[in-house]
Amino acid sequence: DTSVSPSPPAIRVRPLTCSETRRGDRRVVHSLGDGTVHVSAARHDATFGFSAVFDAGASQETVFEGSGMRQLVELAIDGFSCTVFAFGQTGSGKTYTLMGPLTQSETRPAAAGLLGLMQRSFACLLEQSQSRGSDLALSASYLEIYNEQVRDLLSPGPPCALPLRWSKTRGFYVENQLSVDFESLEAIADLLLQGSQRRRTSAHALNRHSSRSHALLTIHIRSRAGGQSITQPPQHGSPQPSACPSKQGTLCFVDLAGSERVKETGSSGELSMEANNINRSLLALGHCISLLAKPQGKRTHIPYRDSKLTRLLARSLGGSGITLMVACVSPSSRCLSETLSTLHYASRARRVTTRP
Ligand code: ADP
Ligand code: MG
Repeated sequence: DTSVSPSPPAIRVRPLTCSETRRGDRRVVHSLGDGTVHVSAARHDATFGFSAVFDAGASQETVFEGSGMRQLVELAIDGFSCTVFAFGQTGSGKTYTLMGPLTQSETRPAAAGLLGLMQRSFACLLEQSQSRGSDLALSASYLEIYNEQVRDLLSPGPPCALPLRWSKTRGFYVENQLSVDFESLEAIADLLLQGSQRRRTSAHALNRHSSRSHALLTIHIRSRAGGQSITQPPQHGSPQPSACPSKQGTLCFVDLAGSERVKETGSSGELSMEANNINRSLLALGHCISLLAKPQGKRTHIPYRDSKLTRLLARSLGGSGITLMVACVSPSSRCLSETLSTLHYASRARRVTTRP
C-alpha cells in the first residue's frame, strides 16, 4: 500500500520548570496515558484527544520515535515534501523539542540524550545516506521570518531581507537563498549551530527577537536512483536513455514564533508591530489549516498569500506535502488560557488531510 496518511498533531506537555515550581504554580495539564490531555482548573475542565500525547516524563528519544518523525525522514528520502512544525506559546518547549536545551557555552553541544528532533533526524538521514552509498545529495537552507521579512540565516554578513517569489514550476520560493551542500553529521550540526547563533545574535540586539521570529531549516534530498549518473548526455539519434528519474524530497523544520496574545496595553510601537505580524501569520496559518480541514468538495480557495509563513509552507500544508505538527504546552496554571488556545488550534489541525 503506497498511500500515506497525514500525521495528526502530537502534543507535548513539558515539566514545570524550577522557577514555576518555586513560585508555586500548580500543574493543571495532565495526560492520562490514553491519548488524552486533561486540563482542569477552577473554572475550566476540558479533555482533548490526540493520537500521540507526550507528558512531562517523555524523553527526547520517546518523542522522536513516538511522533512518527523517523517515518517522516524516510518519506523525505523517498521524494516527499515533509514538514514538522512546533507551535505553542513562548516558553512551552518548542525549541527544546526541536533542538534540545540551549547550552550555556555555544561551543559545547548538549548531552546526546537531550538532542532534539532535528539532530535525531539528521542522524537518521545520514545513516540512510551512508547505507545507500553516495546515492543521496544533501543540502540545507535556513531562513527566518521576522516582521514579515525573510532573512537568510546561513549567508555571511548582516542579515538582509530576501524577496519571496512565485513561479508556475517552483511554486513559492525565496530568491537568492543560500543552499549549502553537506555530507556529514558534523557539517549539518554545524550549519544548524551557525544559523541559530545568527538568530540569537539579533535576539540580543532586538528585544526577544528569537521568540518573535519563525525559523525554517530545510534539507533538500536529491536521490540519484540506482546510484547511476543522471548527467549522461543523450545518444545522438537514439531514444532518450531510460535513466531512472531522480527524486527530490525535502525535510523542513519550523520553529514558530510564540503564539501568546500580546497584551494591547503597554506594547510600544515596535513591539506591537511585531505582535501584529506574528498574529497575522499565525492567524493566516490557522485559517489555511481550518479551510484545509473542510471536506475536499466543500473547500474554497486557500489563502496562502496572506502571509510569508503560509506562502513558504503552502506546499507542505496543501496538496503535496506531509506535515507533522507538535503542539507544545506548559502545565502551569498561569499558562491556562494559552494552553487551551494551543489545544484548540491543534484539534482543528487534526482534520487536515493531504494527498502527497
Ligand atoms: P520555546 O521555544 O517554546 O519558547 P523553550 O524550548 O525555550 O520554549 O523552553 C522553555 C524552557 O523550558 C527552557 O528552559 C527549556 O530548557 C525548558 N524545557 C522545555 N521543554 C522541556 C522538557 N520537555 N523537559 C525539560 N525542560 C524543558
Ligand atoms: Mg524558542
